[in-house]
Amino acid sequence: MLELRTISGVTGVMGCLMALVMAFQRRSYPPSIHGLGHWTAAPLLAFASALLFTLRGVLPALLSAGLANALMFAAAATFLAGSCRFFGQPLSARATSLLWLTGAATLLFMSLFNGGYGWRVLFMGLLLGGVVAWHAAVVWRQPQHSFATRFTGTVLALMSAIILARAVSAPFAPPQEGLFTPAPMQVVYLLGLAFGTLLTSIGTVLMASEHLRRELERLITHDSLTGALTRRALFASGEAELARARRQGRPMAVLMLDLDHFKQINDEHGHRVGDRVLVDFVARAHAVLRRPAVLGRYGGEEFVALLPDTDTAQALAVSERIRASTCADPALPRCAVSIGVAAAQPQDSLEALINRADAGLYDAKALGRNRVVARGPAPH
Ligand code: GH3
Ligand code: MG
Ligand code: MG
Repeated sequence: MLELRTISGVTGVMGCLMALVMAFQRRSYPPSIHGLGHWTAAPLLAFASALLFTLRGVLPALLSAGLANALMFAAAATFLAGSCRFFGQPLSARATSLLWLTGAATLLFMSLFNGGYGWRVLFMGLLLGGVVAWHAAVVWRQPQHSFATRFTGTVLALMSAIILARAVSAPFAPPQEGLFTPAPMQVVYLLGLAFGTLLTSIGTVLMASEHLRRELERLITHDSLTGALTRRALFASGEAELARARRQGRPMAVLMLDLDHFKQINDEHGHRVGDRVLVDFVARAHAVLRRPAVLGRYGGEEFVALLPDTDTAQALAVSERIRASTCADPALPRCAVSIGVAAAQPQDSLEALINRADAGLYDAKALGRNRVVARGPAPH
């Protein structure tokens, strides 16, 4: 037979161990990952709560029921607040006050109201199940899903279902039933809490690692100043797109873009203003380029745009729009861009295609800058 009091105690210890793991993880993660403090505090609160529950019958009801339930609610609310911070959507002041008020009401209700075990479970279960369901919804609503978010969201949804099912069935339970009566619902509930505590803690570690992996990947593939692709990511994307265009017999164009007299901007206004011009240029070019087109920083003030499914005429039109949008910010010094355009030929390597766009850029510079020039394939 399962000893339910032991399960409750083990749940607490597990929470404590998971808090320890999270505390160590937190030290090795960059401060840009938020919510880890809350994720450490939540299992500690759950640990304190489980300890008090385990001592039901030994400690006065004010502690083993009142404070224990309030702490369990606090653990669920802190865990939720941590996830909201982690996903960059911190709880509003109103939601936080609502949770604090509910926690205080729980404590008061459990301490003063002795209307029987069934009604206490119903009251507490609805509140706790509600917060856990809210948490599951927050995790599921994230646009960037990974195994970690699916895993955590599923565990939270299952936990809330168990807590709510026990809550609504409690008023119908036999009057002598208590927390550690080995009735099926209590067994499912206590095991659900035990495994739920363990699995959600694993879920947070997985989500934090996934977040870190994404951030590192972004650092490798994106230029830190402008947010354009790095040279390496640009070439990887270019090879893949060129192979796809060849396979599917579709057109593809490459633009080589270079800001005109950029050295002069640096000399006259300083390097920092030069940087802002670069950032502004990339933001405006991105606004013109639509997916699946990508923009990469080729070097300095030189950029390459890859335009899948685009022929020469369309590439010229896109280039003209980029040229027209360049330096439209009156707060920044005047500048202009020259653009070379090349459309992929069946025999082209990526290097040959970029070289042709570069030749177009060279022509645009030679013809007086601030213009777009397309280069066709070299005659055989
Ligand atoms: P052209 O019209 O012939 O392209 O002339 P240019 O002055 O734009 O070209 P040049 O190659 O002589 O100068 C490019 C300048 O771009 C020199 C370099 O200091 C500057 N530059 C490169 N990277 C950065 C950067 O990240 N920030 C800033 N502020 N300047 C940069
Ligand atoms: Mg230049
Ligand atoms: Mg240049």
